[in-house]
Amino acid sequence: MDFKFGEEHRNFRQEILDFLEKELPGDVKAPVSSPDFIGKVINKGWLGLSIPENYGGLGLDAICRVILNEEMSYHQAPISLGLYGRSFSVFGRICLEHGSEEQKQTWLPRLTEGEAFGQCYTEPESGTDMTRIQTRAVRDGDHYIINGQKMFITTTHTLKRTLLMARTNPDASADKGLSMFVMDNTSPGISITQMMGLGGYRTNQVFLDNVKVPCENLIGVENRGYQYYLANKPFYLHKEQGAEVGSVQRAFDDLVQHLKNTRRDGIPPVKRPVIRQKLAEMAANIKAMRLLTYKMAWMETRGLDISHIASVARVFNVESWLKFNSTAMQLLGMNGQLRRGENNTPLGGTMGWHYEFDAIQDFTRGSPSYTKSMIATHGLGLPEV
Ligand SMILES: Cc1cc2nc3c(=O)[nH]c(=O)nc-3n(C[C@H](O)[C@H](O)[C@H](O)COP(=O)(O)OP(=O)(O)OC[C@H]3O[C@@H](n4cnc5c(N)ncnc54)[C@H](O)[C@@H]3O)c2cc1C
Repeated sequence: MDFKFGEEHRNFRQEILDFLEKELPGDVKAPVSSPDFIGKVINKGWLGLSIPENYGGLGLDAICRVILNEEMSYHQAPISLGLYGRSFSVFGRICLEHGSEEQKQTWLPRLTEGEAFGQCYTEPESGTDMTRIQTRAVRDGDHYIINGQKMFITTTHTLKRTLLMARTNPDASADKGLSMFVMDNTSPGISITQMMGLGGYRTNQVFLDNVKVPCENLIGVENRGYQYYLANKPFYLHKEQGAEVGSVQRAFDDLVQHLKNTRRDGIPPVKRPVIRQKLAEMAANIKAMRLLTYKMAWMETRGLDISHIASVARVFNVESWLKFNSTAMQLLGMNGQLRRGENNTPLGGTMGWHYEFDAIQDFTRGSPSYTKSMIATHGLGLPEV
């Protein structure tokens, strides 16, 4: 057992820190994105960090990916790590694993050039349980014709392409008749209506009315889409890939500074034992989040099965992250809930924004409650309910 970063990983972290020192714009920070900054990240090749070199990527390992995400989010770099992270964890990995050689040559270089791919799975009657998907894809010559309705789809209005799951065989058992396609979001027959959620986060209803998708956009084998989704699930659970660790660590460091430098009832809050206890508990949890995240990355670099640890880490990290947010809001007091730009808003309103925005982790795909069910059944081998 060797519990330290190797030289290549230390050097890579330093390269990122040097880049951030030089290129971080002073006036824009996450969650706002800066196209100029993103362009510089693309030039470094970092959006294709995990993509093999023969498909235009850097072919670096999973530990490098966590280091990059951790440092970018710690430094509040103005780039959507969630968007690009999901794009690789879902589309990139599934394409690498199951796509044809031509699909890999066509689409993987686009990820490295900064194109992100969305996911179009959820429907009014199908959320966590994807075997209930109703959207139909019917083969017609050299196209599939798609009809159905999708819900809570994040990026159809901004991205060019989406990974779509649709039913190709209605006669097979529910989990055996689904297929995955790359759908062009600008195709005729797609209409979108927006839905605004917590933290000002936009999702969409997507209506698919005789949308034509070329047969060459079918990923892998027809009717195997759900199996591809399941095989990729551990990586989907791990989709933040270190970004949440960097982000929580940064929020914690800023919170500690704030509680040292302000006075409440005549003394700095950090002088109160109850507040010190809470800060110590936060520090312990963040340390454990980080260790679990790097352990997963280390296992991936060695080709080990990460399915159980990905679930365990998902539960621990999301619960610690949400608990951190709510405790931080308690410690900030009433000013914590003020919007950015108001008088007296602490920490530029960042904590209040996280409290609202991150809450979706508790009930969206990969929620702790669902993931605990997976641990019980698959990790612990308990009998089905
Ligand atoms: C902001 C936002 C963005 C989204 N973006 C996208 C997107 O881009 N593409 C896309 O396809 N979908 C997207 N979704 C949809 C999201 O993935 C679904 O909300 C999620 O799959 C849960 O489905 P559901 O809402 O139907 O809840 P349900 O499946 O009805 O689940 C309800 C609750 O029960 C829990 N639960 C479900 N099954 C179990 C179980 N077996 N054991 C224990 N607990 C369980 C769930 O975790 C959840 O908390 C988005 C959702 C949100 C809120």
